[in-house]
Parts: sequence; structure tokens; C-alpha cells
Amino acid sequence: RTATRDFSKENELGKGGFGAVYKAELGDRSIVAVKLLFPTEQNLRDFLKEAVLITGIKHRNLVQLKGCCVRDKKRMLVYEYAQNGNLAQALWGKDGSSALTWAQRLKISVGIAKGLSYLHEELQPKVIHRDIKPQNILLDKDLNAKIADFGMARPMKGDQGTQATRVGGTVGYLAPEYAVQGLFTEKLDVYSYGILLLQIISGRKCFDSSATSDEFYLRTRAFKLYRVGCLLSIAEQNLLATTSAEEIESVLKIALSCLQVVHDKRPSMS
Ligand code: ADP
Ligand code: MG
Ligand code: MG
Repeated sequence: RTATRDFSKENELGKGGFGAVYKAELGDRSIVAVKLLFPTEQNLRDFLKEAVLITGIKHRNLVQLKGCCVRDKKRMLVYEYAQNGNLAQALWGKDGSSALTWAQRLKISVGIAKGLSYLHEELQPKVIHRDIKPQNILLDKDLNAKIADFGMARPMKGDQGTQATRVGGTVGYLAPEYAVQGLFTEKLDVYSYGILLLQIISGRKCFDSSATSDEFYLRTRAFKLYRVGCLLSIAEQNLLATTSAEEIESVLKIALSCLQVVHDKRPSMS
């Protein structure tokens, strides 16, 4: 149970198209995050899917759902509270600069990968998140990454992929093939993760775009890969200027295996 006074502007943690998220205190004094949804029909469907899909899922790198309730017309999802906010805030903050060290960037990158690999490899059927981006990655007090916002997530039926009834997600992070065909497999999340990783490593706000779909379709794969190449070289310069050889090696290893997926393994357009 939460008091209504909790849902005030000063307790607001974030706001999205679906509603707002508030910091709240429960009867036992524990702090939680309550996602309060605007009562539209589409939101109700997404609310039910978000709730059903992640109820009972417990993993260190997935934000944990503690409960949900429907009161009057209000629909609420109650989550564990992530003290360090979302990854976009950690990467770019208010003045656009980041205070994250390489060790922290590495920890966050690995955490997201572990969360994704749980969704894709441990769960049966696989769960595809479909909206991996910095705003949907939360950080707890120890900077453990927690994948959040399962409103777009769906189970994957069959090995060939699932046809989306509605292509949502966020333009800059979507694999072009998915945006065109609407067919998704876990590679969709891996593609978005590749973009995310480049942002984490380079510190650049690349691809974080609110461009319209039309603009997006005009972007070619070659252009994207060209930018990926530029970013890697920025990342490389950053890396060379700092830290131990071990750290450099592990970051580059993750980056390269992701790039391989971005380059080679995405579903083809034909
Ligand atoms: P939406 O579906 O509207 O995008 P999200 O679940 O992504 O909603 O939450 C929106 C924002 O609220 C996040 O980007 C984050 O800043 C904040 N937020 C969400 N859940 C939590 C949480 N458990 N702890 C801390 N902040 C959160
Ligand atoms: Mg979100
Ligand atoms: Mg959402």
C-alpha cells in the first residue's frame, strides 16, 4: 500500500509515453518505484503483458516486479527501486558529460549482457525485450545494471522469429530489418545492445535519435556501419588514454563480439 501523497512532482523518477514513475515508501518503510499508467486501452494491454511476462522472474540484472494493482482507473506496477536512476542520466547527466570510470562502464556493459542472456537463453520461451536503450537500463546503488520497462517485451514463438503486430521501440536502436519487416528474434535486442555498448564506450550520444520513421528508413546499413567504425576509433582513443591493459582487452572483446552480431548475423532483408 502506498499513500496517494507519494505521487507528487517531487517524487517523480521519470515520465514516459505510458505514464509516470514515482518513488514511494511502503508500510514497512521500504522504498519502491511505482509505475502509474495513463488509462488508455493500449496501455492496459501493455500493462497486462508487462505484468504477466515478468511476474516471478528474478535475476540480478532485471528490475524486479514486486507487485501490481488496479485501483479505480489507476494501474500500478511496483518495482524495486534503482537508486542511481537510468543509464542515460549516468552517461550524459545534466551537462552532457559522464563521471563513469572505465571499470564502471565495463561492469554496466557486462550486467546488461547477463540480463539479456538470461532473457534469451534461460527462459523458455525466450523473452525479447524490444526496447533496449539507455533510458530503460536502471542502475542500483552499486551500479548493477537492471534491465527495465518490459512494456514492449514479448515471448518469442518458434525459432524463425515472431511477427510483430505493432512495430514499436525506439528508432535509433532498432535493427533496420525489423523496422521494415516486423519480424523479430533475440538478434533484435543484440543489435540494440551493440548500439548501447558503443554509447557506453565512446560516451557519445550517437544514434539516440527521435527521428521519424521516414528518416530512419532512409538511413542505410552502410551509413550506420560507417558511424560504428568512427565510434570504435573514438572508444579506442579513450581507452588508450586510460586504464590497464586488462580492462582495455575486456571492453574491446565485448565490443567486437557485439559488432560481429551487428555486421554478420542479423536477419537478412530478403
Ligand atoms: P516508460 O514505459 O514510460 O518508458 P519506464 O519503466 O521506462 O517507463 O520508466 C521511465 C523512467 O522512470 C526510467 O527511464 C527511469 O528514469 C525511471 N524509473 C523507472 N523505474 C524505476 C525504478 N525501478 N527505479 C528508479 N527509477 C525508475
Ligand atoms: Mg522506458
Ligand atoms: Mg515502456
